[in-house]
Amino acid sequence: MQKFNSVDELVNTIRPEEPIYCIRPNSIKLACEWFKEKFPGNVLYAVKTNPNEDVIKCIGESGINKFDVASINEIKLIKKIFPKAQTFYMNTVKNRQHIKEAYFNYNIKDFALDSKDELQKIIEATNNAKDLILYIRISISNEHAKIDLSQKFGTLPNEVSGLLRLARAHAKKVGLSFHVGSQCMHPISYSKGIREIGNIIKKTKIIPDIINVGGGFPSIYPDLHPQPLENYISEIKKSFNNLKLEKKPELLCEPGRALVAESGSTVVKVLLRKKQKIHINDGTYGSLFDAGVLNFVLPTRMLPNGGIISKKLTSYSLYGPTCDNADFMKGPFVLPNNLKEGDYIEIGQLGAYSLTFRTKFNGFYSDEIFEVQDKPIMSLYEKDKSSRYLVA
Ligand SMILES: *Cc1c(COP(=O)(O)O)cnc(C)c1O
Repeated sequence: MQKFNSVDELVNTIRPEEPIYCIRPNSIKLACEWFKEKFPGNVLYAVKTNPNEDVIKCIGESGINKFDVASINEIKLIKKIFPKAQTFYMNTVKNRQHIKEAYFNYNIKDFALDSKDELQKIIEATNNAKDLILYIRISISNEHAKIDLSQKFGTLPNEVSGLLRLARAHAKKVGLSFHVGSQCMHPISYSKGIREIGNIIKKTKIIPDIINVGGGFPSIYPDLHPQPLENYISEIKKSFNNLKLEKKPELLCEPGRALVAESGSTVVKVLLRKKQKIHINDGTYGSLFDAGVLNFVLPTRMLPNGGIISKKLTSYSLYGPTCDNADFMKGPFVLPNNLKEGDYIEIGQLGAYSLTFRTKFNGFYSDEIFEVQDKPIMSLYEKDKSSRYLVA
């Protein structure tokens, strides 16, 4: 990957006609080191968040060498980069052949499930293996999350006990896991999940070997300022200690967004301005899915194509390059009022769930990815909180 000191230097050097994507290894390193130091257990990176090979390498080299994967191709990707890395197959619904391949060809022992039929499938596909570590995912409220995952996954409360007993009979170790939903804005979601696990322990008298609190740790966006991440960790520690278990389970978490969101940004070119509507060369079908479909507000910064940057700011909506109505990012995106055709915009907080969502719809696709050394537009981890973000 080509390297530049800053996004400004990059744009001034190559004057890109296509959207370009910037990755900041320094930001990934900061986030990984934070989690390694603060989380009282094992930290797994949720690969789906950003499966770029350089990102994966950077995460592994920053001390997080365990990976949460959901597909056979994610397993192959991790094993190609880090053949010895422990990889956890945490999708609760898997293809039978892929379970077989994961266990026999890639030495994967950790599998998640949320139903009896999936348990049966895992037992059969691994030929009744005796060294499995099985995680039962329970269903909990995702009320504080920006993205709800509770409808699709999780064992029903009245089925958990039976499933836990059955899994324990077949596994070397058992875990209980939950996911509070993505971009979780309140730490209390984690203590609610841990308390729920406490209830299951009381009912079944089975102490799991592992408690997996999942992902959901937030990043920062212009309209979403979470409490300090420290509060999330202390809430987890407090509720874990409140379980007062004689044999302490191992703790595990699977952050995605919180490790990589602030490391990535997209630089787009303005194709046309219609008053407060800005047409740009990337959109919902490119790296801006979260902004287009989930209405995420993202921090933005103007890089003028000649001329000055006006100090007067205004709110814009962004329109992508394809011919679909849905290719529209409502925002508001705050930028100088003299923005015009030919100018560039850096859109921040796009290290998570963006590169991986690009499609070739309508013939638009860019794969220009660069490494930059400057600070992200917004940050949870930088000590120097003076951000480059302009507030209207
Ligand atoms: C997506 C996912 C994660 C990561 O979620 P974030 O909200 O990005 O932290 C973790 N675990 C599982 C099982 C997931 O599906």
